Amino acid sequence: MSRIVLVSNRVLDPKQAAQAGGVAVALADIVRTRPALWFGWSGDVRDDATTPHIEGKIATVALTESEHEQYYLGYSNSVLWPVFHNRLDLAEFEAGYYEQYENVNKRLASLLAPMLKPDDIIWVHDYHLIPFATELRKLGVKNSVGFYLHIPFPPWQTFMAIPEHEKLAHGLAAYDLVGLQTKADVSNLIDYMTNGVFGRVVPDGRIRLFDRLVRVASFPIGIDVEDFAHAKRKSPVVQGRGVLRMIGVDRLDYTKGLPQKFKAFGTFLEKYPRYRRQVVLTQIAPPTRENVGAYTDIRQQLESLAGSINGRYGEIDWVPIHYIHRSAPRRRLADLYRSSRIGMVTPLRDGMNLVAKEFVAAQDPADPGVLVLSRFAGAAEELEEAMIVNPYSIDAVADVMRDALEMGLEERIARHRALMARVRRSDVGTWCRSFLRALEGLRDDDDPRGWPPSELIEQALRKLNQSNPQRAMAGRGIAPV
Ligand code: UDP
Repeated sequence: MSRIVLVSNRVLDPKQAAQAGGVAVALADIVRTRPALWFGWSGDVRDDATTPHIEGKIATVALTESEHEQYYLGYSNSVLWPVFHNRLDLAEFEAGYYEQYENVNKRLASLLAPMLKPDDIIWVHDYHLIPFATELRKLGVKNSVGFYLHIPFPPWQTFMAIPEHEKLAHGLAAYDLVGLQTKADVSNLIDYMTNGVFGRVVPDGRIRLFDRLVRVASFPIGIDVEDFAHAKRKSPVVQGRGVLRMIGVDRLDYTKGLPQKFKAFGTFLEKYPRYRRQVVLTQIAPPTRENVGAYTDIRQQLESLAGSINGRYGEIDWVPIHYIHRSAPRRRLADLYRSSRIGMVTPLRDGMNLVAKEFVAAQDPADPGVLVLSRFAGAAEELEEAMIVNPYSIDAVADVMRDALEMGLEERIARHRALMARVRRSDVGTWCRSFLRALEGLRDDDDPRGWPPSELIEQALRKLNQSNPQRAMAGRGIAPV
C-alpha cells in the first residue's frame, strides 16, 4: 500500500483534530489507519524555526512573522478567500502579497521533497497551497499529486479579476487531479480553464492545460455520522418549557450571512407576533481571523443587531436572540442541534457547510427538526429535502421560519429520512476513499476507468460552445489527446 502524504496549511495533533471536527478528523483518520505523513504549518509564528519538526507521521513547520502576515492573513485570507466567495469588493489586490504566497509554497515544497519516496501519493489541501505542486515538480517530483479545494470555485470572470490568475492556473495544472465540493464548482473551474486560459477538454474528460493533463471532478465532503447520532435532547431551560429553538452555528465570517439571519428573525417576529415568547434563536458564532481587516466590522454589526432586536421584542422572561461569541465543543453542539426545532444554515456563499449535515445527523428520527439551508451553500446541491432559501431575501427567510415551525410531524419525518440517507451515503469516509481511489487510479497507466463521470465536463463544454458558436468552430472544443 502506497504511503499517503497529506499537505495542508494547518497540521493538528491527531488528538486535537478529533476535537476540531470536520476535515481535520478525516485527515487524522488517514494518518492513524494508513502508512502516511501529514505535513504543514504547526500554527507557530517565529523567525528562528526553519527546519521541520518531525514526530512519527507528523511533520510541521513554523511560519515567520512576515510569512504569516503576507501568505496566510494576506494572500490566502484577504485575496483568495474573498474572491472565491464572490466578494471582489473585499479583496486586497494592491497589497503585493502574491510574492510571499509563492515563496512560502516554494519553501514548504523544498522542505517536503527530501522526505518523499517514489511511490508516495501526495494530497494537497486548500487554497493556501495552489502553487505547491508546481514547486514540487520544479524539484523533480514525479509522483501523483492531487489537490482538493474546500471552498467554492467562483464564476470564471470573477476568478479572472485576480491579477495573478494565470499563475494560479499554472499551479492547478501541475496537479493530476483537482477535486472540488460540488458539480457547480466543477462547472465554474472548467469554464475558467477553457475560457480564461484556453484549456481544452480531451476525449477521456481531462483538461489539457498548458503542457499538462489534469482531471477535474467533484467529491462532496461529509461528516462522521456516528459522532452526532448519540446526541441528547435538552429543553432550552433558560427560556422556560415549550419554547422552540432555532440554532445557528457559524464562524463569525462575512460569508456566513449572519446579519441577514438576524434581520430575518427580527422580520419574522414583526410579521408573526404570535410567535413572540414561543421561539428563540441561539447563534453560536466563534471568533475567526480577527486580525484580517474585513472581519473587524462584522462583530460590531451583529452585536448591535442582536441588541436592537432583543431590546425591541424581548420581555423580562424572554430574550429572542442568544448570541454567543465563543466556540462550543462538538459534544455540546450535537445536543444543541438535537434540542432545536430548526437548523438555520444561511451562508451567502459556502464550499459545503458541515453544520448542515451535522444538524441532520443529530436529529431524533421520531421527532426531527427542520433544516433551513441557503441555496448558496455547497450542501444544497445534495440536501434537496431541506427548506432551501435565498439568504439575501430577508422577507422570504422570515416566511420560511414560520413554515418550518408549522411543519407537521409527518412531513418532518419524511424530509429527515431522505436527508439522513444522503448524509450517510456521502459521509467523510466515502469522501476520502473516492478522492484517493481517483488519485491512485492515475497510476495504472492513466486508465480512466473508475474515474468520476466526465459528463459534467462535456455538459459544460456543450453549454460553452452553444453560447459561442465561433469558439466551437475555431476548434477550442473537444481536442484530441
Ligand atoms: N464547530 C465547532 N464548534 C463551534 C463552531 C463550529 O466544533 O463552536 C465545528 C462544526 O461542528 C463543524 C465545523 O466547526 O464541524 C465548521 O464547519 P463548516 O463546514 O460548517 O464551516 P467552516 O467553519 O469550515 O467554514
